[in-house]
Amino acid sequence: MSAARTAVRIEGRGPVAMALALFLARQGFGPGSILTDPIPDELPDWLASRAIALSLGSWQLLSRVAALPPAAPILRVEASLRGRAGRTRMQATDLRAPALGHVLRYGPLHRALAAALAARQADAAPGEIGAAEAALTVVADGDPGAASKLLDFEQTALLAELVAERDGHGTAFERFTDEGPLALLPLPQPRRHALVWCARPAESARRAELEPPAFEAELRAGFGNALGALRLDSERVLAPLQRKVRGPGGEPGRIAIGNAAQALHPVAGQGLNLGLRDAFELAALLGELRTGGRPLDEAAAAFARARRADRALTVAITDTLAQAFTWPAIARLESLALGALDLAAPARNGFAASLMFGLRNG
Ligand SMILES: Cc1cc2nc3c(=O)[nH]c(=O)nc-3n(C[C@H](O)[C@H](O)[C@H](O)COP(=O)(O)OP(=O)(O)OC[C@H]3O[C@@H](n4cnc5c(N)ncnc54)[C@H](O)[C@@H]3O)c2cc1C
Repeated sequence: MSAARTAVRIEGRGPVAMALALFLARQGFGPGSILTDPIPDELPDWLASRAIALSLGSWQLLSRVAALPPAAPILRVEASLRGRAGRTRMQATDLRAPALGHVLRYGPLHRALAAALAARQADAAPGEIGAAEAALTVVADGDPGAASKLLDFEQTALLAELVAERDGHGTAFERFTDEGPLALLPLPQPRRHALVWCARPAESARRAELEPPAFEAELRAGFGNALGALRLDSERVLAPLQRKVRGPGGEPGRIAIGNAAQALHPVAGQGLNLGLRDAFELAALLGELRTGGRPLDEAAAAFARARRADRALTVAITDTLAQAFTWPAIARLESLALGALDLAAPARNGFAASLMFGLRNG
């Protein structure tokens, strides 16, 4: 391999792009062999304030490469069907895990990763950065491209922050309503929760315009009393929901990861988690090639093989959860399934473990 073509170029400035650069550094790639786009100092508020639930696996991966900001541990997940029987709880203690995951906001996570990357580049020898020519380009710009396969959920997520009357003690709530999922995630501040309320676009737009007392009353009717009164304490942001998967047949020498490969419905909080597993797996493969003195662009086929099962399963579970409960004909079956999952601890724990860690080696 020519000495000049030893670098990996990373397109994109989001968490997956930065995580890949940091994982590559752990694989022995020096600052001169990782070419990154300039990281933005400021993000738009709607993005910076987005609550992100990181699985325990993602949290552990990122903790190795960055000093992570304060986050709320998820100690249990309570999933239920609004207005029907069927409820399941997954507890960290059942899995002997310290937490099922952690919730933090996109902005502080972005800043923490950018700081870790800047510290690494500051350590580089003079003239080292940008010295090499890229052997491989990784697309991590969050955009699956125009030729992606699209599934329109005909749902819009209404995002907001709430202060609850009662503490949820680390519970993440997921209510499957016949309009779409409604989630309340714990935030790092006491009694503060992030709301992700998915419904038909016109319904979400109407709710975004309601006066706060009317909005709070409607929310409580939809969510129930688990946290007492809920007070709106932020702007309301609308996010249209579509699943996009990048089409097959990428260009040689280019590999897409994270949302650039697949952008999911937020229902199971899997998008970033899946993207981080992409980044981790790709860094490991590139590390092996580099150590063996082999061309880095050999990674493309092995990467596609290594990621196929995890990607396909995560997309399928997420698509199903996003839509299943909105189809009246199967809602009763889903109710039985949730009830059965609650009775069957191994099934429930297996499901929780795959959401915590994914099929990283699948
Ligand atoms: C409502 C919602 C809730 C979600 N909740 C979760 C969750 O709980 N857990 C989870 O794992 N995933 C969640 N996701 C998915 C998660 O946000 C994405 O999978 C993840 O951000 C993908 O990272 P990425 O680096 O591949 O791309 P992106 O985060 O899209 O980043 C790509 C690039 O776009 C930049 N960028 C994007 N928009 C702008 C803009 N307008 N101005 C400037 N820069 C911009 C970013 O900084 C970056 O440079 C959620 C998504 C949505 C829409």
